[in-house]
Amino acid sequence: MKKVILFLIDSMMPEVLEQCIAAKQAPGLQFLMERGQYISDCVTVFPTMTASIDCSLITGVYPDRHKVPGLVWYDPEQKKMVNYINGSLPVQRIGLSHCAGNVLFDLNERHLSRDVKTIHEILEENKLVSGSINVIAHRGHKQHKVHMPPVLDAATGFKLNEKVSGPTIMSLGTLVRPELFRPITWNFAQSMMESYGINDTYAIDVLIEVLKSGKQPHFTLVYLPDNDHKLHKSPHEAVSHLAKVDQELARFLDSFETWEQALERNVILLISDHGQTVIGQSKDHNISLDTLLNHFSIHRLGAELTDDVDVIICNNERMTYLYPVGKHTIETEVVEAVTQDPRIDLIAWREGEQVVVRRGGGDKTLRFWKNGSCTDIYGVAWGMEGDMSVLELQEDGGKILFSSYPDAFSRLYGSLFSQSCPVVVLTAAPGYQFLSELSPTHLGGGSHGSLHKQDSLIPLLIAGASNRFDVPARLIDVLSFILQELGVAVPASQAPR
Ligand SMILES: [Zn+2]
Repeated sequence: MKKVILFLIDSMMPEVLEQCIAAKQAPGLQFLMERGQYISDCVTVFPTMTASIDCSLITGVYPDRHKVPGLVWYDPEQKKMVNYINGSLPVQRIGLSHCAGNVLFDLNERHLSRDVKTIHEILEENKLVSGSINVIAHRGHKQHKVHMPPVLDAATGFKLNEKVSGPTIMSLGTLVRPELFRPITWNFAQSMMESYGINDTYAIDVLIEVLKSGKQPHFTLVYLPDNDHKLHKSPHEAVSHLAKVDQELARFLDSFETWEQALERNVILLISDHGQTVIGQSKDHNISLDTLLNHFSIHRLGAELTDDVDVIICNNERMTYLYPVGKHTIETEVVEAVTQDPRIDLIAWREGEQVVVRRGGGDKTLRFWKNGSCTDIYGVAWGMEGDMSVLELQEDGGKILFSSYPDAFSRLYGSLFSQSCPVVVLTAAPGYQFLSELSPTHLGGGSHGSLHKQDSLIPLLIAGASNRFDVPARLIDVLSFILQELGVAVPASQAPR
């Protein structure tokens, strides 16, 4: 049986991939594309932020079932904001210890629902070996000790000596090292300056060492983050950023006698987590939530949550969760406060079992619910009422077709039903992003988070497989494809609903 390797390339976009290959700057990606199946319009998860997407990739379900709502969200049980590290300023304010605990431990051991299994759990329950290199969502059946670097250890108050769970072969930068015959030789990619090994070079170093060790798992998921960081800063140099990723992929392919041999031994998949949208240069491209919500008392980062707080803002760049708390637990009061701004693209909230969506700057609404008489192109049944132009939908003989907002119903539903507390979802129009206390900003740079196709359509490349991937493709379908390649049945917990 062939082994399966899945590369997750942060912020890789289909048009950039195609341009990079056309410009002959990506020989590795070109080699794989010429020998495989290329899907240019695979749909990712909403919000288009890595944390919730990673959880969907390893469980095959949207956030309504895996329960990780985004990169930043509010946990009403703990009365605390959860932040899987969205930038140094908010992390300093909330506390490095809290955020590091969130991302290293809570995400996998507390937040990711136990009602669903990760691909690592499924494979290892089926007597196969699984591997995870530098992915923040990694829950598995083995326990791994975290080696905090001395600087971080001091900064986090020595509180993070817990073990984290993962598959048999597990790497998380220099914090968790896989058990191989020999250690990865030290180089600069493992330094504090290079995020302790959470970078492309170190991930490929580890992968090559895993292959050489003779301990290659049946499935390995490898996360390559560098492209995202560069695109946020210089989105117009996207082709050269992806060309750098290709150099790392070529290093992996070169570790075989021939590149063909890599495909004789492996099924190789490459996917992205989300796209990016270029943000305008002028200050009004930052939608200030403090200004829009100035009639409410807003929770301040790092402060105790007191009774006089009305709204908690959880900013996910081009998407925001607003949590009405205290006396303002009615979502509509918050909705009214933000409705008139045309820079806001979509406003969505729950009413009972229904999702209500409104367009910013207008008053047209659309509501939809599960198990109605229409079916979307992914075979999911919905009922709907109101103005279909809110989500630019078309209906063709009882079939719902999406355009600017791919897989809009399941993805909005997935985000709004990931929690049961009152919450309002906002997305920013193309060219805009949300601004709140200490949130990272990207004027003139790239950003993501929204439901729009620019943030949501990702490439999927599959080479060396024995099956073809069904289209239209979604990121959540990758799990069942890999299980099929490895001859493992999808467990009942992950069956489509
Ligand atoms: Zn990003």
